[in-house]
Amino acid sequence: MLTRDQHQVSRKNISKNALKVLYRLNQAGYQAYLVGGGVRDLLLGLRPKDFDVATDATPEQIKAEFRNCRLIGRRFRLAHILYGREIIEVATFRANHPEASVSNKKPSKRDLSRTSEQGMLVRDNVYGSLVDDAFRRDFTVNALYYRVTDFAILDYTGGLKDLDKRQLKFIGDPEERYREDPVRILRAIRLSCKINLQIETKTHAPIKQLAQLLTHVSSARLWDESNKMLLAGHAQATFNSLKQHGVAQYLFPLTIQSLNDTSSQAQNFNQFVQSALKNTDKRIADQQPVTPAFLFAVFLWQPLLEQIELFNHKGMPPYEARQKAASQVMTTQQQCIGIPKRFSMMAKEIWSLQFRLGVRRRKSVFSVIQHPRFRAAYDFLCLRAASDTELQELADWWTEFQILDDQDRNQMLQRTEKQLNPKNLKPKKKVNSKNKHRRSRTKTKSSNDNDAHG
Ligand code: ATP
Ligand code: MG
Repeated sequence: MLTRDQHQVSRKNISKNALKVLYRLNQAGYQAYLVGGGVRDLLLGLRPKDFDVATDATPEQIKAEFRNCRLIGRRFRLAHILYGREIIEVATFRANHPEASVSNKKPSKRDLSRTSEQGMLVRDNVYGSLVDDAFRRDFTVNALYYRVTDFAILDYTGGLKDLDKRQLKFIGDPEERYREDPVRILRAIRLSCKINLQIETKTHAPIKQLAQLLTHVSSARLWDESNKMLLAGHAQATFNSLKQHGVAQYLFPLTIQSLNDTSSQAQNFNQFVQSALKNTDKRIADQQPVTPAFLFAVFLWQPLLEQIELFNHKGMPPYEARQKAASQVMTTQQQCIGIPKRFSMMAKEIWSLQFRLGVRRRKSVFSVIQHPRFRAAYDFLCLRAASDTELQELADWWTEFQILDDQDRNQMLQRTEKQLNPKNLKPKKKVNSKNKHRRSRTKTKSSNDNDAHG
């Protein structure tokens, strides 16, 4: 235990709403502590993302104390106390229950704890004491409790020592704990990248071998987790660490397959993915908006192109090939990570605009620039251009075109049309109906050539 004068955690740095929740629960006669990432990050001198509270009050007792309270979760019942946009997550002390991991009996309604055939906890609602709660948490540095009655920090698992050593160490037997909940593999990688802690040897050892257990986790939960990994300002480090640990292929199978290819396209794709991740981290640092749809569009871009090529080989018309490939690639990804429809639609729009950005004809250009996803699609094109010099001219063209007024845009389009289709300069010849047919076929081909850039 650290007493008030032995640590740096100050109430000044704790959310007022979290403090309100702690005081309120204490006044009602319950124990209540700040725990998890909030305490850990404050001790590391970082700004916590959110504040979690642990208490001996049951979810129903918590709800009775707060009007602004919503109970959520089935696997893990929790109370959310809502203050405008801030949510304070309040969890009742829980206990480990290893005896549950051998039970495969059919669940009854009253089951508080349940495990799947793989030993995975599918319900985790066995309540316990404060000490039980400390030992059921994932890493020692996440099991530190801040008490607001005397400002002490309680440590039952050696978290303070591990913070000093800057290591992320699992409480209990890591292999068993990963089996109970394979998402802990992702948490280990994410947290080590986020707060720059080394994963301790024994915590590290089983990761590669057990990573395939992630295929048993629901795609909805993996969607939540992947957002935490990709949109917290450390996407590049986290993605690369997932790859290094042999975990990424269970989350982004098509992406990893394309990255492992030996072709020169794979090298370009790798550069593209890396610059998109880096760019996402930079946008977050600059407090610019980011959407997971953009990153998934990036991750699946090369798989999409490969699938289109396959369909083209089979003689499918180009437009149909793109549509079918987009659906197929997205559906495969969604089997792992449950990307909600509005984000998968957005990614598909970004893709479809890549092809349209390559067609620099008046009608098409003006319709593309007014498209609600134009900005995202343009950013996507610029990132592609950074790893594919052939696209630089097109990206520069759009950079310039956007900032011009209508008159200059018209002139620019005229110039471009002449450059790209010098045939337009020749005086028009009269054509008979047979030739007309041939001409129109040639024209289609040349517009496809433009497309190839997009
Ligand atoms: P972040 O900074 O991302 O919020 P965090 O450690 O606070 O990191 P939360 O998801 O907010 O992560 O979880 C709060 C706490 O709940 C964790 O610190 C940990 O003690 C416990 N916890 C969360 N998920 C698990 C899990 N899958 N298994 C065991 N304990 C967990
Ligand atoms: Mg947290």
